[in-house]
Amino acid sequence: MMEPSAATARLVRQRAADRCEYCLMHQSLQVATFHIEHITPSSAGGPPSPDNLALACPSCNLRKANRLTARDPTTGDMVPLFHPRRHIWTDHFAWSGNEIVAKTPIGRAAIVMLDMNHARRLKVRIAESRSPSFHRRVPFLRRVSSTTVTTDLTKITTIAANRYSSRSAMYLSR
Ligand SMILES: [Zn+2]
Repeated sequence: MMEPSAATARLVRQRAADRCEYCLMHQSLQVATFHIEHITPSSAGGPPSPDNLALACPSCNLRKANRLTARDPTTGDMVPLFHPRRHIWTDHFAWSGNEIVAKTPIGRAAIVMLDMNHARRLKVRIAESRSPSFHRRVPFLRRVSSTTVTTDLTKITTIAANRYSSRSAMYLSR
């Protein structure tokens, strides 16, 4: 399996603001280091490039495994599994207190497949919600083209960091 370079791995962690890009859990309350995961698995030809990489907590990563689709529990249809680079989190999910709720079939399927509202996760979210530094509801930058990333890693990271902080500021001002 091709591993991402150290620079790419750093970019992925910074781009995700140290959160799982599926369930948005923050690394800082977890003992295990989050995985840099191939969204399309290497075994299916997925490259170790920024467009195919996401930061994932061990729970989401293990449940996702090599899957690219999941079953919508409402219709029974197979739908694409939530893709952190192609899909925007807030298009498919929303918060209802400490629970993640679906806005679309992709959201419904991912919540079930990844068991996003497991009791243990709810406990972590309660702990997160007590820390003013987390801003769980702030969606972070999702769409970064691989061409831009490979041409100028530093610049993109800076842009991502700036957007993140300006959105945090918006959230705080509410
Ligand atoms: Zn997760």
